[in-house]
Amino acid sequence: MEAPNSPGAHLLFVEDDVATREPIAANLGAHGYRVAEVGSAGEATRAWEARRPDLILLDLGLPDRDGLTIVRRVRREATTPILVLSARGEERDRVTALEQGADDYLTKPFGLAELRARIAALLRRAGGPAAGSSGQLSVGAVSLDIARREVHVNGQLVELTPREYELLKVLLSRPGTVVTRGRLLRAVWGTGYSEESHYLHVYISRLRRKLAEADRSGAVADLFVAEPGVGYRVRDTAGEG
Ligand code: CA
Repeated sequence: MEAPNSPGAHLLFVEDDVATREPIAANLGAHGYRVAEVGSAGEATRAWEARRPDLILLDLGLPDRDGLTIVRRVRREATTPILVLSARGEERDRVTALEQGADDYLTKPFGLAELRARIAALLRRAGGPAAGSSGQLSVGAVSLDIARREVHVNGQLVELTPREYELLKVLLSRPGTVVTRGRLLRAVWGTGYSEESHYLHVYISRLRRKLAEADRSGAVADLFVAEPGVGYRVRDTAGEG
């Protein structure tokens, strides 16, 4: 089921390959999105200046300028969600785009249902603060109480160290979207630690184990999805079913 706020959202689709762009734009249009299509960074900048879209789909390999220039341009002024569409072999560009403010990425070729699910997740996130009015972050059976600094799985309290708690908080605040290793490391350990990826591997393993021990249903076992070379995402249960 797609988010109720999705239909009618205005998407700016930046992609120079017309054979790729047109069928995707047609599919998104058929699902109720209003799609403005452009084929270069220059056109994208003009379209952005003329009318602020609700979300930007951004191909990084553009004929005039790098798609990263669009990420930087938009982030100077707005938090508009940016979903990067990258080709294989552009791993470094993709991570750079995420570090500079893009929200998520898909690697070509991707399925249209997956694309729509990602768009819906980003629009939901943009619709308001991730934490509800109660100060709770919840994904499936896992809930995190920001005021009490407590984590429960199916109502059962889980004891976490301060770093494990912070790591879970950053991930749960962006369900369904990827968080880069650099962003997680800086948020949890500090700016001097952005290269220490092995810390993350260890802490994610511990989090997985502690949450799974408190979860008889087994539903949280696959909560964290590793994105090789990029980071982690929390499986977005709201985008399924
Ligand atoms: Ca391209």
